[in-house]
Amino acid sequence: MKIFQNLNFVLVDTSHPGNIGACARAMNSMGILNLSLVNPKEFPSKESEARAKSGKKVLDKAKIHENLNEAINTSNLVIGTSARSRSMPWPMMEINDLGKVINESLARKEEVSIVFGNEAFGLDNEDLGKCDFHLQIPTTKDSSLNLSHAVQIVAHEIHKESLSDLSIQVREVELATSMQKEKLMEHIEIVLELLDFYDHQNPKQVPARLTRLIKRMQLDKLEIGILRGILTKLEDRLTNN
Ligand code: SAH
Repeated sequence: MKIFQNLNFVLVDTSHPGNIGACARAMNSMGILNLSLVNPKEFPSKESEARAKSGKKVLDKAKIHENLNEAINTSNLVIGTSARSRSMPWPMMEINDLGKVINESLARKEEVSIVFGNEAFGLDNEDLGKCDFHLQIPTTKDSSLNLSHAVQIVAHEIHKESLSDLSIQVREVELATSMQKEKLMEHIEIVLELLDFYDHQNPKQVPARLTRLIKRMQLDKLEIGILRGILTKLEDRLTNN
């Protein structure tokens, strides 16, 4: 049975400890053992343990974080799951591509995180904006999946793909981490500010769209380094003249 290293499932703002246990059980059944909990309402709890069954070991080594950044900072690929389409269209991951994309990324020794939201509200736009891709599992209209069912489906897709003979596409350089992408975006904003680029009527639009562009490009560490170098030169010119 394959155990997935460097793959984390992140549950954000989970309300019901029973659901955390059910997610641990679902993950364990597919060989995914790394669980991160962001701001869980109640954890640890007897109810989680009762629902986890053989997944108790997943609960025992679960990590607790105060916010999503803390959980995904070192990840190279972050996929946010959502039951609904959101106002700002984001690069979508098709469920049929999910297993392949993730297994290839893991084969390159990258770290992957899949993020799941609160039972009632899902992930908010801020947290969705931190993800490289969004994944919506197709369901019938007017129905929603229980959190642990969504976890089970995603875990199964990843596990299923790992069983097949992969023709793994190896990139030469590791993908940039979530934090490196965030720092690049901060740097771009500084330079745009110096350039007086912003439309002050609508200041939020440009950074949000650029963030989306950066996520979509799947930049590697070398490419980020080049862009940061260009930005540093620009910044020097703009401040010294
Ligand atoms: N009313 C909430 C539903 C939350 S369900 C909403 O509209 O977002 C709890 C979590 O389960 C979601 O945040 C998501 O992580 C996952 N989930 C439920 N249904 C899903 C679906 N069809 N596709 C992807 N993730 C889903």
